[in-house]
Amino acid sequence: DLHFETTAIHAGQAPDPATGAVITPLYQTSTYAQEQVGVTRGFDYSRTANPTRRSLEECLAALEGAGSYGLTFASGMAAIDTLLRLVKPGEYVVVSNDVYGGTFRLFDKVLAGYGLAFTFVDASIPAQVEHALRPETTLVWLETPTNPLLKIADIAEIARRVKSSRPGIWLAVDNTFASPYLQQPLALGADFSVYSTTKYIAGHSDVVGGAIVTRDAGAYERLKFLQNAIGAVPGPMDAWLTLRGIKTLALRMERHSSNALHIAEFLQNHPAVERVIYPGLDSHPGHAIAQRQMKMFGGMISIILKGGESAARRMTAATRLFTLAESLGGVESLIEVPAVMTHASVTGSALEIPGGLVRLSVGIEHVDDLLQDLEQALNE
Ligand SMILES: *Cc1c(COP(=O)(O)O)cnc(C)c1O
Repeated sequence: DLHFETTAIHAGQAPDPATGAVITPLYQTSTYAQEQVGVTRGFDYSRTANPTRRSLEECLAALEGAGSYGLTFASGMAAIDTLLRLVKPGEYVVVSNDVYGGTFRLFDKVLAGYGLAFTFVDASIPAQVEHALRPETTLVWLETPTNPLLKIADIAEIARRVKSSRPGIWLAVDNTFASPYLQQPLALGADFSVYSTTKYIAGHSDVVGGAIVTRDAGAYERLKFLQNAIGAVPGPMDAWLTLRGIKTLALRMERHSSNALHIAEFLQNHPAVERVIYPGLDSHPGHAIAQRQMKMFGGMISIILKGGESAARRMTAATRLFTLAESLGGVESLIEVPAVMTHASVTGSALEIPGGLVRLSVGIEHVDDLLQDLEQALNE
């Protein structure tokens, strides 16, 4: 029963039995010598299993409590795609209507063409999720906080309503924005925690990856089969980098969250800003739920500028520390305009994002330097 910080450093990462190496070795190999035909030491081919990847999978599982299983993938999208193979043609998926643009694209432009049906609802209202359930529904897909509107869905309340409607319906939560340090979906009643480990888990903007964590042994076996059958697995180097990042996840999330809260409060009082969206502010409609289900409020802030898209373009060109780039969750601060960058694929759909919305991924630099950078960029 170790604490999160200790688990992140030790779970799945005992010193290497062959050499005593304290850090999990990078097993950069595709195949493994067999003593006789079929006699292996547990590894035969790296698509199926690799020791470095296994360490990462064990660590991610341990971070969500005893009895959890972890699987990792080549990207967050590969993890989501593999999970969706649990849903068969003719079945329904209820989805929160403000999901990551790439998730929306996969559901709407790819999987819908294979006979899966998607119903989009405002999951910040649990009754909307419940009312959208049909006899053919097998999966409910939530993201909280969402990207980029930072809406909050009440995981425990939705789990209760979904499971009392029909216990067999799965609940998956994309927990990328919170990370397992700030939010534990499985403990709140979800069946699957899904991650783009590219973001906070790896945390250094140097690797793309994904993960699924579950306590459902049957679903785990099926997903493990699918992971090998489909083959969208991370390479050993990517697994190694992610393991390295995970060791400091708790420290980083604390600093991301405290920096972001300071910055959100500053921006709230700036005359160029129409609205600040941050779950840590009293003004956020999901603040009370976030306070209950999250440890802190995370490093993501969205702001709506009074001057619309042209103001957003000017501000993001004027920051010096906040780098204009897609992605999030790294130690360095990033800034972007979702409507024309990360969320361009939802333009024209119900998920369209206002042009004046600027998304900040607040890093772990000194907060005073970040505040000064935003102030000079907004004053331009
Ligand atoms: C980035 C992201 C994804 C996709 O992950 P990739 O690693 O880019 O494939 C999925 N969900 C959320 C919330 C994300 O931010």
